[in-house]
Amino acid sequence: MNNFEQLGVQQSILQAIGELGFETPTPIQEQSIPVFLENGRDILGLAQTGTGKTAAFGLPILQLIDFSNKQTQALVICPTRELCIQITRDLKAYSKYINNVNIVSVYGGASITGQISDIRRGAQIIVATPGRLMDLMNRNAVNIKTIGYVVLDEADEMLNMGFEEDVEFILAETPAEKRVCLFSATMPKQIRNIANRYMSNPFEISVGKANSGNINITHQYSIVHARDKYAALKRYVDYNSDNLYCIIFCTTKNETQDISDKLIKDGYNADCLHGDLSQAQREKVMNRFRHHAIKILLATDVAARGIDVSALTHVIHFHLPDDIENYTHRSGRTGRAGKTGVSYTLLHMREGGRLKDIERMASVKFEKILIPSAEEVRDKKLMAFTDTILNTEIEENIFDEKVMASLETLMQFEKTELLQKFLSLELRRFSVDFTNAPDLNINERSTREGASASTFGGGVRLFVSVGKKDGFDIRNFKDYVAEKAAISWKKIRVDVSGVYSFIDAQQEDVEAIMSGLNGQMHNGRVVRVEVSGDKQGGSGNGRGGSRGGSRGGSGYGGGERRRSSGGEGGGERRRSSGGGFSSGGGSYGGGGERRRSSGGEGGERRRRSSY
Ligand code: AMP
Repeated sequence: MNNFEQLGVQQSILQAIGELGFETPTPIQEQSIPVFLENGRDILGLAQTGTGKTAAFGLPILQLIDFSNKQTQALVICPTRELCIQITRDLKAYSKYINNVNIVSVYGGASITGQISDIRRGAQIIVATPGRLMDLMNRNAVNIKTIGYVVLDEADEMLNMGFEEDVEFILAETPAEKRVCLFSATMPKQIRNIANRYMSNPFEISVGKANSGNINITHQYSIVHARDKYAALKRYVDYNSDNLYCIIFCTTKNETQDISDKLIKDGYNADCLHGDLSQAQREKVMNRFRHHAIKILLATDVAARGIDVSALTHVIHFHLPDDIENYTHRSGRTGRAGKTGVSYTLLHMREGGRLKDIERMASVKFEKILIPSAEEVRDKKLMAFTDTILNTEIEENIFDEKVMASLETLMQFEKTELLQKFLSLELRRFSVDFTNAPDLNINERSTREGASASTFGGGVRLFVSVGKKDGFDIRNFKDYVAEKAAISWKKIRVDVSGVYSFIDAQQEDVEAIMSGLNGQMHNGRVVRVEVSGDKQGGSGNGRGGSRGGSRGGSGYGGGERRRSSGGEGGGERRRSSGGGFSSGGGSYGGGGERRRSSGGEGGERRRRSSY
């Protein structure tokens, strides 16, 4: 494997990335940097977040730009303001030792006049969201006719957010002679179309299989009653609190705010990020999270786009995402840069079937774990606290007069009594609230979870061999099935993914669907339908991508084993007992004020409405 110097990276950049701790190039960097620097080809990269994409395009671009010239020479387009800010921050860090660098980020929700004057000062690199860039172009505030490099980052997400036309408009305004670099976590047909239209003979890079799960991530789930989800979340967080640094994904902004408020009220070190926050509020939350002042971040899928925090120990899915591909995006927030991480899903009973779809489409393998009991949480807390005391070195130099005075006050107690007081303080929440707390796990045998896991509301789940790649979306796929099976589209629910789809149907319609669709030709491909799970056999799909440990009893309905996930996180173990997530009932400054909508999304177009 080459190091950065061998890839051709110049000294000033080597010094900066060396300070950032970049020693070995990631696979995408190893492939893209020499191509970018040497042979001038466009690059089409299939890569998820966390693979080191920013440096993969950033380092060569920084090296190729003429910083003695103030004209805009490179444009990086990405879907969200968070990603904009993050890319800009990274590029600035990489170019720390290059003179006269001006990198400007432009995104909706922030003052456009400030951005215009930043550009006027001469921005050699502009990092932009499509909506705001269009706005600036319409005001003649930006000149992209001189650029030599265009990067489209998270291209699939830009399309998901409805930016396809904007991106195409922007690309059409750039000069014909330029280098284009496109990165995407998935490669749907529209991305291929854009690549065909705007790139010439691109060098294709793929790090990992499309949609494949990161092998550093362990995927776990527990099943609880919907009403117990919040209690189960707290147990899981408490149990893992000695190293937890996580994002909890919620479905809507209300849920995000609600759970965040509850956690803060219950003394957890949490805050939230969603589309109703103003730009200033978001940045404040992100800064605090990045600096570990907040350990738990609640977020919607869209709000979490572009969050770059490299040492997340866990990603928690309070609900599974509607779109299966989002599961990969979410999980990709942990297990980055060679670290291990846990992606943990709290399921209620009817969500079980979706796990199999995710296993199949995202090439991951789930392991079932039980929600720890209150006693287990308490015991783990106790052990961690004892461990902390045992390992704490006495710092002689802090014992001044005042400290000695308080020491003397405490010395009036017997040793045992004093220790009892310390332990009571540490374990108060667990002894008062949690003793006799119920087992939150569902007794699946009695509730027939095994059956509901592979079906939808008592119906049948069918696997179909065509998907988005064949031109289907939810609406036209429903119409197609309804027409071929001669049933009402209202009777089915569908999930359409890249090359597969699923139909949730009533038992009575299964035969009509199977005979109506099986063997049909669609866009030159044979349509195949089978009852979902027929091919999977047992608890898994036998694909690669799962990792670590025994899988004994990991089927959705089968035997189970209790398992500590505390050691999986990869983050360093905290020694401080006072900075915990929840001890002594105290609040740890979660920034608890409720946030109001301030129209923070200004200028950016969005298709989805519920975040
Ligand atoms: P990215 O995919 O660009 O968002 O990068 C993910 C994380 O990995 C960021 O925190 C980067 O700072 C970090 N990173 C990128 N390249 C390297 C490298 N070669 N060595 C160590 N860390 C890296």
